[in-house]
Amino acid sequence: KKEEAPILSKKEQKRARRLFPEPLLNFKELRSKYKISSRLAENVAEQGFTVPTEVQLGTLPLLLGGTSEPDLLVVAPTGSGKTLSFLIPVINKIVRHHHSTPDEHGILSVVVAPTRELASQIVNEGRKLVAGTGVKITLMRKGMRVGEDGDANVLDEDNEESSGSEEEDAESKPAKERASIPVTKSDILVTTPLMLVNALSANRTTTMATLPLVRSLVMDEADVLLDPLFREQTLDIWKSCSHPDLRVGLWSATMGSNIEDLTKSTIRERLEDLGQKPSE
Ligand code: ADP
Ligand code: MG
Repeated sequence: KKEEAPILSKKEQKRARRLFPEPLLNFKELRSKYKISSRLAENVAEQGFTVPTEVQLGTLPLLLGGTSEPDLLVVAPTGSGKTLSFLIPVINKIVRHHHSTPDEHGILSVVVAPTRELASQIVNEGRKLVAGTGVKITLMRKGMRVGEDGDANVLDEDNEESSGSEEEDAESKPAKERASIPVTKSDILVTTPLMLVNALSANRTTTMATLPLVRSLVMDEADVLLDPLFREQTLDIWKSCSHPDLRVGLWSATMGSNIEDLTKSTIRERLEDLGQKPSE
């Protein structure tokens, strides 16, 4: 008599499906299966991509499905579409947040990239995706204030002339003109490490300001951001994101300078820092 092969319990199966969800077969599933915001789904469709790339079909179900969003370390080649992979879930989460918590205003997501140009490219891609969703994405600039309460008082990009303004910082404008620049709130702040660290430590001597509302921290080109050159600033930003439900995504093209070790030691440092932090 043949013995029946043992299988996972119902509970184990459920956990396994959460850890290893079905791949995203096409972009329509973003709406039909993962129920992302209809406007966001339309904006994705408008990009005209036929099929998801490997990194997209693997990570989107992980980040959009199920109840508990994971922290992720993703390694996928340059040009494989990582930007869309992290922007769709971040934007969708904010649309939901606006629905469920309409009174909470402030920076809900920070995307860190090693160069100003990369940050600017992310914002350009993000702008196409947020159209009509009510989500606001902003490129960090010199002179922007990032308040202790997590609100970003930033230039209203919609009211800016697009030509040339990219290079012009609020600081470089005369005080009178600067004061007249419309100020608004932003949901997603895209920044280089130094720009945000400077803003968070402006007018402060010891501790940095916090970003208490941030639920998603994305580190693009994470191998570079964890490189000795940026590492301290990147960790400072990580530490300033004090919300207990913070999720972190590390996105990289290479395992580079031993990104896995760096990630592990980063997490250890992070835990130690949290342990040392006086309860507040
Ligand atoms: P990475 O960050 O992984 O280097 P990007 O996110 O910059 O890659 O994407 C590279 C290019 O591929 C971009 O021009 C982007 O618009 C395009 N792209 C993204 N997703 C797809 C897709 N599913 N099919 C075709 N092209 C895509
Ligand atoms: Mg990229």
